[in-house]
Amino acid sequence: VPDWPSAVSFTSRTTFPPVKKLPKAQKRRVLVTGGAGFVGSHLVDRLMFLGHDVVVLDNFFSGSKSTLSHWVGHPNFELVRGDVVEPLLIEVDQIYHLACPASPKAYQINAVKTLKTSFMGTLNMLGLAKRTKARFLLSSTSEVYGSPSVHPQPETYWGNVNPNGPRSCYDEGKRVAEALTYGYARQDGVDVRVARIFNCFGPRMSADDGRLVSNFVVAALKGEPLQVYGDGEATRSLMFVHDLISGLIALMESDYSEGPVNIGSPDEGTVLSWASTILALVKDLRATGSIPPLAAGQKESEIEFVPAVVDDPPRRKPDITLAKEVLAWEPRWTVMAGLEETIRYFASQLAEGE
Ligand code: NAD
Ligand code: UDP
Repeated sequence: VPDWPSAVSFTSRTTFPPVKKLPKAQKRRVLVTGGAGFVGSHLVDRLMFLGHDVVVLDNFFSGSKSTLSHWVGHPNFELVRGDVVEPLLIEVDQIYHLACPASPKAYQINAVKTLKTSFMGTLNMLGLAKRTKARFLLSSTSEVYGSPSVHPQPETYWGNVNPNGPRSCYDEGKRVAEALTYGYARQDGVDVRVARIFNCFGPRMSADDGRLVSNFVVAALKGEPLQVYGDGEATRSLMFVHDLISGLIALMESDYSEGPVNIGSPDEGTVLSWASTILALVKDLRATGSIPPLAAGQKESEIEFVPAVVDDPPRRKPDITLAKEVLAWEPRWTVMAGLEETIRYFASQLAEGE
């Protein structure tokens, strides 16, 4: 008799966040590529809450297993380590294709890989959609508008993109991904949706991914300078992640397949104004005891101006008329409420790391 212990009485996990029990006919098999990333993990949460079967494909380049650890072991959930540049053979009903590093710092680490991910990854996932007759949604970006000469940007604007600068791997990668998506729709009848996502923020952004909100919040919490690139007059419109998830699902479920739809918040501000807002909010939350006080010897942060980065789009704001019309969608969260949630999240992350 082998002297191994018996594992039959052990279950991996017994408590999970609550999920809806769907009748079999309504339950979909959904693939989320890039599901371990910031946006993907929130999308997975929502699809799980809705009661669907969710498969995540991720190579963990800019995502992390910890964003999904609360679902590991759930019978509706599966996490696959893999790269979208390789073909995948599974059976699915819907594909949310998000895999691609999204922060300028991350996508510039290996520009050629970013292009491969956008081109070959999208080609592979469209091939999968064609074979399985799954509905396919591409997470495109406001970066396809480049440095826009039309403001705010409607979907009909073709953009003004540098084809060979440091951001081109991402911008042109997404433009070719859109072209591929509509190529498959026209040639092969694949049922496609394209979301052009504008700057989004929220819990689970990586603390070190270099984006505006994560950089400014983490610096303010640590009492370090908030570094504004250039003169701070560039504008960005910030959307809280839960609104983005509602928009992506509304688009996937809608009948609108004619062209891309902007998903973003029209709440535009200069980079400098967002820095001041975040500083003030962190101070208020400290004063009310919502987040821990500054550590002994730490000083309140200040704003510091540092040299501008190359090809930084000077302004960006979505025209969301189409999303309102065809999806009945618009952001519900105020930026301030979203920032509060995000500041609390990073404060608890920093406390855990200590
Ligand atoms: P993220 O970097 O947090 O997530 C991307 C995920 O894709 C990560 O988990 C990463 O590991 C995975 N990934 C990258 N390359 C891969 C590959 N070759 N194979 C498999 N997995 C791979 O970024 P995010 O902010 O969650 O963005 C998600 C999607 O939304 C991206 O397609 C991005 O272009 C788009 N988007 C995001 C924003 C935003 O503000 N967050 C704005 C516009 C568009
Ligand atoms: N930015 C900044 N300081 C930072 C991070 C970002 O001044 O620490 C600026 C950046 O130059 C850009 C804006 O904030 O003008 C948004 O940058 P992010 O990287 O978040 O997104 P994207 O440039 O892709 O819109």
